[in-house]
Amino acid sequence: MKQNTPGELCRNCDGHASVAITLGGRDHNGHLRTITAHCFTCHGTGTRRSTRRPHWTVTA
Ligand SMILES: [Zn+2]
Repeated sequence: MKQNTPGELCRNCDGHASVAITLGGRDHNGHLRTITAHCFTCHGTGTRRSTRRPHWTVTA
């Protein structure tokens, strides 16, 4: 979906609802060590569903 309608995007994250943060290095399985941060306002959907105040939660 490349078409984004202004006004439907989450105002907190502007559609970038989740980001992967590289911690550096790899684990014993050879996978990159990352954490994912989801936008709490839209719960990772990138669209505006509620008007809760902006807040981010980070899941390891
Ligand atoms: Zn959001």
